Amino acid sequence: MELACLDLEGVLVPEIWIAFAERTGIDALRATTRDIPDYNVLMRQRLDLLERHHLKIGDIQAVIATLQPLEGAIDFVDWLRERFQVIILSDTFYEFSRPLMRQLQWPTLFCHRLVTDAGGRVIDYKLRQADPKRAAVKALHSLNFRVLAAGDSYNDTTMLGEADVGFLIHAPQHVIDEFPQFRAVDSLAELKQAFVAASDRDLSL
Ligand SMILES: [Mg+2]
Repeated sequence: MELACLDLEGVLVPEIWIAFAERTGIDALRATTRDIPDYNVLMRQRLDLLERHHLKIGDIQAVIATLQPLEGAIDFVDWLRERFQVIILSDTFYEFSRPLMRQLQWPTLFCHRLVTDAGGRVIDYKLRQADPKRAAVKALHSLNFRVLAAGDSYNDTTMLGEADVGFLIHAPQHVIDEFPQFRAVDSLAELKQAFVAASDRDLSL
């Protein structure tokens, strides 16, 4: 049995924090896992910036509500779900994901939670577990699934390493150079072909 695990931001949907940085004009909010490998350092920086600029959860959700999946992503997920059980493994937050997951027709999503106070200030975040993407693939292996995975960034590399086959997609050159063990593709069309080739089944249906 085979499963496909996909990262969300940068693979199927735009980077939420970059969109928010552009909308608010706060350049420092542009940093993502592509720039800062340590997710806790990155999140602390984001929470500090929100606090300093008096931005609340509703301000971020209002921007997310205007976003659409990347070109071809809806069709890609449809295609994939006909051929694999699909799980999205993301370092985003359930509080952010709903408008985008609705457009992708609610694939299974494993991610994290934000902690807000009564006034809507984002005061903390709760990671579901340490190294969550890798842990999820390990758990799926324990259920006897073969796992194909794809992601675009540092926070995907342990997932890709744990998977039976892992691909980088839309990855920045420095990540491609640092992790030459993962084949890098540039488009969802290319990823489709890569998944077909990596599958242990005949997917030419
Ligand atoms: Mg990503």
